[in-house]
Amino acid sequence: MKNAPIPFNRPHMTGKELYYIAEAHFNGRLAGDGPFTAKCHNWLQQNGACHKALLTHSCTAALEMAAILLDIQPGDEIIMPSYTFVSTANAFVSRGGVPVFVDIRADTLNLDETLIENAITTRTKAIAPVHYAGVSAEMNTVMDIARRHGLKVVEDAAQGVMSSYQGAALGSIGDLGTYSFHETKNIISGEGGALLINDPKLTLRAEIIREKGTDRSRFFRGEVDKYTWQDLGSSFLPGELIAAFLWAQLEEADKITAQRLKNWNYYHLLLEPLENQGLLRRPMIPADCLHNAHMYYILLSPKLNRQQVLNELNQNNINAVSHYVPLHSSPAGQRYGRAEGELKNTNALSERLIRLPLWFGLTEAEQNRIVEALKNLDKLLR
Ligand SMILES: *Cc1c(COP(=O)(O)O)cnc(C)c1O
Repeated sequence: MKNAPIPFNRPHMTGKELYYIAEAHFNGRLAGDGPFTAKCHNWLQQNGACHKALLTHSCTAALEMAAILLDIQPGDEIIMPSYTFVSTANAFVSRGGVPVFVDIRADTLNLDETLIENAITTRTKAIAPVHYAGVSAEMNTVMDIARRHGLKVVEDAAQGVMSSYQGAALGSIGDLGTYSFHETKNIISGEGGALLINDPKLTLRAEIIREKGTDRSRFFRGEVDKYTWQDLGSSFLPGELIAAFLWAQLEEADKITAQRLKNWNYYHLLLEPLENQGLLRRPMIPADCLHNAHMYYILLSPKLNRQQVLNELNQNNINAVSHYVPLHSSPAGQRYGRAEGELKNTNALSERLIRLPLWFGLTEAEQNRIVEALKNLDKLLR
């Protein structure tokens, strides 16, 4: 008999989601910025230690808000890694911005901070570091470079809810930060996200952009007697049902993170002998980073063929996946952006990475089975 399938991801529900959705239903308040949204904002402002948090439909939407807020104009350049999800670049490209793709560090797969200054031109407007796998980029250096060159910093902390760098929550360090609550992340609402505003001067305009370009938020606070069209904007705010769902998750953020870290640490222990054998490399967490166990990835030995490894896992009914096709080598990335230098690490490591199943409720027995399958890889060495 074949072993039961182990999915790559299984969304975790805390059990209170429907209860809070029912409460929102009986409140009769379904549009955005109701009581559940306020609870989520307070939580994010406390745990994210940001000046202001605003829920959005997605991290993509939060990044789009960031591009409008920073007044990105056609031809403005934004320095970012190529090894990231499309939204990091797409949000700026939608305003006419040009992503400038810089290589990643071999150890954390984050933006290589030593290459940023070389990529700066007179058109550079911002740096958008991505905290890959919920592990922080070298933010001290990024912030220092940004200050010296008068650049803004937008942290793509989509994967970084509940992670920190030198004690500071990810997303709270740059001028702006963005979170994702997509079902594949740690804390979820199906689709969902948040914009974290750390520069208080940006807050009022962020509220306007999020409310279709109107000052409706000020109107609701009684600060103006009618609301009007003030600026660019769109409808970036989620309804209360989404916020109600999200509240049930945020309440259990500590528990969810602790459970994921247990799974992460168990993989790390089991896979040490395979690393010593030279079959793969395990993730590296810098000393000043606390991470949220968003992801457990392995970097295969160059002597292994990734597709064969994925097939081998699949034959054992284990669904592992790879990502990302580097943006500088994708059709839109070539059309809209430019690569700075050779991006050697990006090209080499993106071909070798596999993400293992990691979700709340994954058992040690299932993890044992996954690692057993990986132990057979030496027969695939070429
Ligand atoms: C998931 C993710 C996004 C997009 O998040 P959505 O909420 O799905 O829009 C953006 N950037 C990174 C690095 C991500 O991992």
